[in-house]
Amino acid sequence: MKKTGIVIAALAALILIAFVAYDGIFNKSVSVDFFAMNTVGTLKITGKDADETAKKIEAQLDLLDSDLLSRYNENSLLFKINSGLETENEELAAYVRTLIDVSRKSGGAFDFTLGAISDLWDFGGNASIPDSAKLLQELSHAGYEKISVTDSRIVSADKNAVIDLGAAGKGIALDKAKEILDAQNVRKAVISVGGSVLCYGEGDFTVGIRNPEGNAGEYIAILRTNACCVSTSGNYERYFEKDGKRYHHILDPKTGYPAESGVVSVTVISENGLLSDALSTACFVLGVEKGGELAKEFGCEAVFVTADKKIYATDGAKAMLTVETEGYILAE
Ligand code: AMP
Ligand code: MG
Repeated sequence: MKKTGIVIAALAALILIAFVAYDGIFNKSVSVDFFAMNTVGTLKITGKDADETAKKIEAQLDLLDSDLLSRYNENSLLFKINSGLETENEELAAYVRTLIDVSRKSGGAFDFTLGAISDLWDFGGNASIPDSAKLLQELSHAGYEKISVTDSRIVSADKNAVIDLGAAGKGIALDKAKEILDAQNVRKAVISVGGSVLCYGEGDFTVGIRNPEGNAGEYIAILRTNACCVSTSGNYERYFEKDGKRYHHILDPKTGYPAESGVVSVTVISENGLLSDALSTACFVLGVEKGGELAKEFGCEAVFVTADKKIYATDGAKAMLTVETEGYILAE
């Protein structure tokens, strides 16, 4: 009797060890911090191929920036297109086609040709209020209507218009990461690049909406989602203050000055990374009402945080949202 008990206990222990080992092989988890697209990112991946997948994604995002999307790297395609040295690229043409659509549907609130104006503000570097004459001069060369795409050719009607994909590159990075994840043996992943997050795989995810007045990692609300992309544009990302006024990096294409729509952050939820990123910027410029309509037009959900600490959400986003911080209220 006693012997049988010991055998059963030993067998149970063996089964448990085998199960843990099996789970260990198939559910390996990795967490990696990295720097890409001029911002910080993290990869959290669970699955058999977790290690290999993390390495592949990191390498791919580096290439995406250096070879395709960077405005400053002389070897990138965007640099060559902006310099008039090249016009052809199927992948970039597809992105620009989508961005022309977002620009049009936003009534020009989104405009991916503000590169020269962003350079005058220099938010990432030695930021200051630009000379207004220079600003007007550069503004006369900007305008998404000047850019056209035919098949894989990107053509600008003004050689001084400067295409800038700063509002969409992080989302494109998420779409690239998703392609890699689809081809690997991975169960679940959360990948963030700047203010854009890819929730990939099975089950629920929680994504925090950052406290606009707090530090990174401090949240005022939580979104509970399934697999999707979540991008946030905020006036706290790149800015400087002068005479008590904040000047931030999201510009109103009509004036060339920081957008003043009453919102301090916008979060957009979409199946597509490029759309979530581009629309969060567009919705920031448009404000609560028009921004909400634009998000819906693209089948996306959105959450707006306003300067008076109200949170506005589209119906679908409301169902995912829990407000966590006193002082912020969910507007009906
Ligand atoms: P995001 O953080 O995704 O909202 O992108 C902000 C970046 O997009 C800025 O740093 C600029 O490079 C660029 N940008 C600024 N204003 C606009 C705008 N109205 N439309 C499109 N891109 C913009
Ligand atoms: Mg964006």
